[in-house]
Amino acid sequence: MAEWEKNIRRVEPYVPGEQPNRPGMIKLNTNENPYPPAPGVGLALKQLDTERLRLYPDPASTLLVEALAARNGLKSEQVFVGVGSDEVLALAFLTFFQSKKPVLFPDITYSFYEVWAQLYGIPYECQPLDEAFGIREEDYEKENGGIVLANPNAPTGLLVDPDFLRRILSKNQDVIVIVDEAYIDFGGESAVSLIPEFDNLLVVQTFSKSRSLAGMRIGAAFGQSGLIRYLNDVKYSFNSYTMDLTAQKLGAASLEDEGYFRETIQKIVNTRERVKAELKALGFRFGDSKANFIFATHPKLSAPELFEALKQENIYVRYFAKPRIRDYLRITIGTDGEMDVLVDFLKKYVKAADQ
Ligand SMILES: *Cc1c(COP(=O)(O)O)cnc(C)c1O
Repeated sequence: MAEWEKNIRRVEPYVPGEQPNRPGMIKLNTNENPYPPAPGVGLALKQLDTERLRLYPDPASTLLVEALAARNGLKSEQVFVGVGSDEVLALAFLTFFQSKKPVLFPDITYSFYEVWAQLYGIPYECQPLDEAFGIREEDYEKENGGIVLANPNAPTGLLVDPDFLRRILSKNQDVIVIVDEAYIDFGGESAVSLIPEFDNLLVVQTFSKSRSLAGMRIGAAFGQSGLIRYLNDVKYSFNSYTMDLTAQKLGAASLEDEGYFRETIQKIVNTRERVKAELKALGFRFGDSKANFIFATHPKLSAPELFEALKQENIYVRYFAKPRIRDYLRITIGTDGEMDVLVDFLKKYVKAADQ
């Protein structure tokens, strides 16, 4: 090892889902939205004044922050925005988890939490989900330096209600509790309603899934103004101009079209429920996902083999070679047409395996 290598920060990075770009492929592997963003987003992009790009953007992202505050019944001081919720979460870990006690999150959850904890040297302890992948409330009653819960959880898709979160928050008032709501719009009730009750609650959301803007990188956090102030202090110590002008304008445009937003989500939810019935009929097993994906296993099929077989068909889903979930595939909900192709293939595949 060279002398200089001893001074290097070594980390094991998060591995994002593949982003293949093959003609005709069916991409069900990174929970993107199969429908385009609201029409107003395209319009806002066309109207963008490129001359304006010579100037720095508004460091406070006022336009976007105010639009988010209005939509969520909050004040601007209660809203923070960043480059995707990944950046928002990374800054939140850096800001709020300074304790020597471990931060708690489930053993099966968004694997980036572990990566950030390691990057920043934050002690953490994974809490095993129960056999049905449910969160065990009593695991979050021990001493800790903070709590992170994805709701609905990923990759399980399982949802807890605000009363469950209220109990966790009540028992953990001395630490920050982060609720990652990347998928909340697909069937859950947001914990934003708990913000007036708890000064230690940070709710994180994204425009990547329900708003079809993964390519634009927009995330947000909501909490009482004290929390948001601390988050901003760290952000301004890191990069004042995280949100570019385009992201601010397009994000705000997306929020203007509530009708399109609801319609798109309803389509995805309808498709999800229909595909659940079809997968069930084929012998797949899965929890009651309230997200835009289904996390399924089959008692007679090998998940990695099925994953590869699907890839041969140009259908991409997500497989995690990890303990407890190595028999599962996470399948994003695409359009009805895409899901028909998937289900037709699975019918043949299951039938062939039965013979
Ligand atoms: C997709 C996802 C995110 C990150 O989304 P961004 O695209 O960075 O906004 C955060 N948390 C969970 C649980 C996710 O699935």
